[in-house]
Amino acid sequence: MARNGGATYAGAALSGLTVLEQRLRQDLEWLELPAKPWVPERAAPDGRPVADVAIVGAGMAGLAAAAALRLDGVDRLRVLDRAAEGQEGPWVSYARMETLRSPKGLAGPALGLPALTFRAFFEAQHGAAAWEALGKIPRGMWMDYLNWYRRVMAVPVENGADVALIRPREGGLIVLEMCTGPEVLCRRLVLASGRDGLGGHFVPEMARRVDRRFWAHSREEIDFAALRGKRVGVVGAGASAMDNAATALEAGAASLDLFVRRAELPRINKFTGIGSQGVVHGFAGLPDEWKWRFLHYAGSAQTPPPRDSTMRVSRHPHARLHLSSPVTGVREVDGALRVETPRGAFTVDFLIFATGFKVALDERPELALIAPHIRLWRDRFTPAAGQESEELAFSPDLAPDFSFQEKVPGECPALARIHAFNYPATLSHGKLTGDIPAISAGAKRLSRGIARSLFVEDRETHFERLVAFDTPELLGDEWPARGVSA
Ligand SMILES: Cc1cc2nc3c(=O)[nH]c(=O)nc-3n(C[C@H](O)[C@H](O)[C@H](O)COP(=O)(O)OP(=O)(O)OC[C@H]3O[C@@H](n4cnc5c(N)ncnc54)[C@H](O)[C@@H]3O)c2cc1C
Repeated sequence: MARNGGATYAGAALSGLTVLEQRLRQDLEWLELPAKPWVPERAAPDGRPVADVAIVGAGMAGLAAAAALRLDGVDRLRVLDRAAEGQEGPWVSYARMETLRSPKGLAGPALGLPALTFRAFFEAQHGAAAWEALGKIPRGMWMDYLNWYRRVMAVPVENGADVALIRPREGGLIVLEMCTGPEVLCRRLVLASGRDGLGGHFVPEMARRVDRRFWAHSREEIDFAALRGKRVGVVGAGASAMDNAATALEAGAASLDLFVRRAELPRINKFTGIGSQGVVHGFAGLPDEWKWRFLHYAGSAQTPPPRDSTMRVSRHPHARLHLSSPVTGVREVDGALRVETPRGAFTVDFLIFATGFKVALDERPELALIAPHIRLWRDRFTPAAGQESEELAFSPDLAPDFSFQEKVPGECPALARIHAFNYPATLSHGKLTGDIPAISAGAKRLSRGIARSLFVEDRETHFERLVAFDTPELLGDEWPARGVSA
């Protein structure tokens, strides 16, 4: 019998995780998963191998996409990430929160497999009582989980693999030029390249005129130890603003000024509040004006910073919250930074912009050849008066399988083979790509869409297989000759 922690299984002492992995293997076997591979092998005219699907990014979305494709029998995969192994995504780099915001029980990228959930991973190591006692998931532990997920689902990640340029090629192929090493050829490409995967982090123009030693974006590496004894400012009111402010304070900042545009901190997490399987599966079916209306409303209401993160800042007496204080100017004065707001000017030694991300296709070198052809929402949709939003307008206008669509039909047909599986897909698909809660639903939608298009593209080969298949089920001797008239 298997049981948690220091378990015995079939008489042998096995660790909790080993037992869990055995259970996962058993569950997959009972479900006959992964499905048998069915995509005909392709090679380039020069003989080079061609992946069925290449995935740029091995963060949570890239791992879930790869695992879903493998379960669906699409297994000639290349999963490429520029980060070192175990460093993918934000969790152990620029994320500065103590725990995840999400409730611990979310099934996340588990793809419907109970033994693949974070809870199973946690309980296998620490037991059910520890699960009950756990508040939220420590961020490093979430990274450990993703590392485990990658191993048990046999996702073939190649680390240190930086995609420099995506080049469509004749014959339905896509070439990935790598910063180092040989090109990768594939038939379908998934961009699971993260929140900034179709652009970059957003910084107000005024900051760009100031020397870089005075400021950073929260997405960047920041030497917090160097902020000890310094006056630090943070711009923004979201989770990252609080987490960066708290990290600076804990590193010994002399003072912390938090500049917030709004008259009060947002308190209600609107879109998460109405989360349901209806939203997950229904959003993509909404008429355009309703998709826009939902996200415009949720965006205007803004997501509050987590309570824990906010109190991690407010407990420091030298942290000050400046509401109704949009930063209207920043300039260097006597070796420090003067931050202007309608409520007064403040002097800081270092300013952190926790001002989020944007879609800016021309800022991603790897998209240079395809970016001019990608249709955005603003190319075909005009919002109702009062619902204008630059963020939404620049969202890519995606097809039901997450693939890009052309601005001008016929100018870049390869876009139908390139799938945007990252946060900017939200306006087209709902929140299936950027966050933990519905990432499995997103990965399954993506995988089924790719399976469908590969099958359709290979229809001649599949028809030939149909014609050639000659394994009999009846052997011809089932019916005695006396009862047959021909
Ligand atoms: C600080 C922070 C905290 C968050 N906390 C939560 C939370 O509590 N709950 C929740 O639901 N969501 C949270 N999110 C949102 C979301 O879950 C994360 O952003 C998550 O990392 C998204 O996964 P991803 O795979 O889309 O992107 P990422 O994890 O960012 O992975 C993208 C990967 O792509 C790679 N890459 C990009 N471009 C290239 C290229 N050209 N070549 C090779 N590799 C490339 C990167 O190296 C990176 O590893 C948080 C986000 C942030 C930023």
